[in-house]
Amino acid sequence: MSDRSDRELGMKRNITRRDFLNGVAVTAGAAFMPWHLLAAGDGDPEKLPDYYPPALTGLRGSHPGSFDAAHSLRDGTFWDAAGTPQDTGETYDLIIVGGGISGLSAAHFYRKIAGANARILILDNHDDFGGHAKRNEFRVGQRTLLGYGGTYSIESPEPYSAAAKGVIEELGINVTSFPKYLDRDLYGSMGRVPKIFFDKEAFGSDKLVDDPYPFPGGETYDLAVPAADAWTHFLAEAPIAEQARKDVSRLCREKKDYLPGLSVEQQKARLARISYAQFLTELAGVHVDVIRLYQTISQTLFGVGIEAVSALDAAETGYPGFSGIDIGPEALSNERKYFFHFPDGNASIARLLVRKLIPEAMPGDSATDVVTARANYAKLDDKSSSVRIRLNSTAVRVKHAGEPARATEVEVAYARGGKVYAVRGKHAILACWNMMIPYLCEELPDAQKEALAYATKVPLLYTNVLLRKWTAFQKLGANSIYAPGGYHTHVDMDLPVSIGEYRCPRTPEEPAVVHMSKAPCRAGRPARDQHTSGRIELYNTTFETMERKIREQLVRTLGVGGFDPARDILAITVNRWPHGYAYEYSSLWDKFVLEGGETPCERARKTFGRIAIANSDAGAYAYTDEAINQAWRAVGELKS
Ligand SMILES: Cc1cc2nc3c(=O)[nH]c(=O)nc-3n(C[C@H](O)[C@H](O)[C@H](O)COP(=O)(O)OP(=O)(O)OC[C@H]3O[C@@H](n4cnc5c(N)ncnc54)[C@H](O)[C@@H]3O)c2cc1C
Repeated sequence: MSDRSDRELGMKRNITRRDFLNGVAVTAGAAFMPWHLLAAGDGDPEKLPDYYPPALTGLRGSHPGSFDAAHSLRDGTFWDAAGTPQDTGETYDLIIVGGGISGLSAAHFYRKIAGANARILILDNHDDFGGHAKRNEFRVGQRTLLGYGGTYSIESPEPYSAAAKGVIEELGINVTSFPKYLDRDLYGSMGRVPKIFFDKEAFGSDKLVDDPYPFPGGETYDLAVPAADAWTHFLAEAPIAEQARKDVSRLCREKKDYLPGLSVEQQKARLARISYAQFLTELAGVHVDVIRLYQTISQTLFGVGIEAVSALDAAETGYPGFSGIDIGPEALSNERKYFFHFPDGNASIARLLVRKLIPEAMPGDSATDVVTARANYAKLDDKSSSVRIRLNSTAVRVKHAGEPARATEVEVAYARGGKVYAVRGKHAILACWNMMIPYLCEELPDAQKEALAYATKVPLLYTNVLLRKWTAFQKLGANSIYAPGGYHTHVDMDLPVSIGEYRCPRTPEEPAVVHMSKAPCRAGRPARDQHTSGRIELYNTTFETMERKIREQLVRTLGVGGFDPARDILAITVNRWPHGYAYEYSSLWDKFVLEGGETPCERARKTFGRIAIANSDAGAYAYTDEAINQAWRAVGELKS
């Protein structure tokens, strides 16, 4: 905890309607607009002229009001109060639950088969479409600055499939053109390098030190080029034991085989059974301070610390200690070959998909002009359109109209604005989260429900902070900061990408968006339990508490560079994802194969009558390409 008062931190300032910046009004959006409550009236909030969720600040992601119906369904209390759904009389060819990239892709694929006139309804519980692909927008004077509130980029440890690549290309995204938009040399030319922030609680003093070996996992890893003398600085300054510094240097710089005498297959088998922390302690023999330093390095990628990540996963990701073993970080090199980062992350993909489905809702005609296009939310759910996206609407029941094997229709009930409605479709695709499906779809066989419930989610916090200027980063020579003991473990300036009409901040005097990330977890417990604890923590932490922690962390890290949180923070958007990444199986914690030879996700995603299952959980793989792959499969499995 810092000794700073709320006043010094700027807690009392009304940041969302904040005064003026250099005489220019900052309109960062209203916090907590209760669209879901507005939906309770007769009018649709999405039709209001000022309905524009990307510009909302405060608590976003799973925002207040987006999950109450789902949690009530889980707790078995929903139907007590809901009564019989009102029949809207609407019928569709396809009803999709979930307006993330999987649901939007499913609509796109379905139209290819059924034709552009196919009638499709997409339901999503959030006030915006895109699911985890979330756009955060900030307005400073006449200028718009963007941040990614979820999915950061097109990238995947596995190569994109033909179906996923096909979608990216149809949307007009030319992945190989990315270098054209990235100012690769900007940060380096300004002397800005990766840093580690050592905090006094864990390391005895608050200190910012050069990071000589930035790990994969920080969002700006691509540009994380250490300073030429980073090792000298680290070895002299890092507030850890002398032996620990030497150990870090040995791990990162020496090509040593810590599993001598074993074949590659034997080495892999051994590494799969131990954690990375065990590898470091028992095989590499490092000082305990090295564990303290690296404990949280894996959190933003795996959702847990290094004691719960297998050493094999660590090796394949490119963590230090494996360069003497023949298990190169091949996965990582794949990932970087096919890479594209929009300033709002893969929200641009979601927006391009919406443009394909409902052109009136997303002006423009290229994958570059979409970056600054203003979505017209009033057009998303329009009677005259064959595709409709209904936001603020939580599906609460999906069932066949009659006996599943013979039924010709599926009835979907959804909650919106305190009421429950029913619509009918020839098919349904559940592109929502696997764990939700057993509550929605009681007809499913028990074994399938059990397999669906296995897919827990990895909780994450993606915070965007709008700064008046970023001179403190410049003064301290930092562009990305790993904070092993911080509330957020990573603090990054985004990649400098200018695309279409969008211009990234290039000089420290300009306003900029800083991205902070955190994966809440409880070290020392099995991964799934850690995710549950993290999820509870996220739901139970107020925005005020998060805001205080953000301000404290930034001033402790950047204060010596002249950063003043009360003056320099213009807006904060916290994207809370209690249900974040799809759960990926770990050799430490999971049985990959169930009786019968299926993996849990294979059993979980079986099509049932007229209901198919998409979404990234269906592949147990937390990447955009998987969301698309599963949509492709689900559409292909629909009964004609
Ligand atoms: C913070 C974060 C960062 C990520 N970064 C990357 C990255 O850089 N690159 C990458 O490839 N992948 C990344 N991923 C993973 C990627 O975002 C996902 O794999 C992908 O977007 C999932 O898409 P989806 O449509 O399957 O699920 P989602 O995006 O979760 O969409 C599903 C939607 O269904 C809604 N829903 C659930 N239940 C209901 C219901 N009952 N009624 C109505 N709607 C419902 C959900 O609220 C959600 O909006 C990231 C994920 C997170 C969380």
